[in-house]
Amino acid sequence: MSAGAEIEEWFRDLRASQDKEPKNAFYLCKTKNVAKAVKATFEKGVTMEEESRLLGYPLCCVRDHYRRSEQMETAFYMMIKRTAQGNVDEMKRIVTEDVAVTAATAEEIALLQDGQTFHPAPFTSFHMCSECFSKDGSPAKKLSERYEALAKKVDAGFAGTIEVNAEGVGS
Ligand SMILES: [Zn+2]
Repeated sequence: MSAGAEIEEWFRDLRASQDKEPKNAFYLCKTKNVAKAVKATFEKGVTMEEESRLLGYPLCCVRDHYRRSEQMETAFYMMIKRTAQGNVDEMKRIVTEDVAVTAATAEEIALLQDGQTFHPAPFTSFHMCSECFSKDGSPAKKLSERYEALAKKVDAGFAGTIEVNAEGVGS
């Protein structure tokens, strides 16, 4: 991250306050202990290690998800700061009024490109990190193959439907 791209706390707070939409998720598990652990994450937050364990996603891919999110947030912050010429009140207005800003500097463009480079893990619901994406037998590819085998075992037609509809599957 470059100098000047350090996101200020007020910006993070303002962005977090905008993210209050109720979200529903269903989590299926076998044991009560796991259900309790999942419930606790909504009360006290979750570490990447816990998230990886509870979702069954490779830790490297979970870490990369947060790294990409941070790249996006940094790019957004930089674009707003540049557009508002560093005026904090104007920056707040841009955020709260959802004013469109565009990437203009090489750094902003690079951050956005990196932040938006997704490698869906076929037959799962997560994105692979670059390392997993580039290596056969990586944790994400192994998991993907397991779920592909499961889908085919359930029903070949079902697996085909997933393949047709899922982003990145079969590519
Ligand atoms: Zn990975």
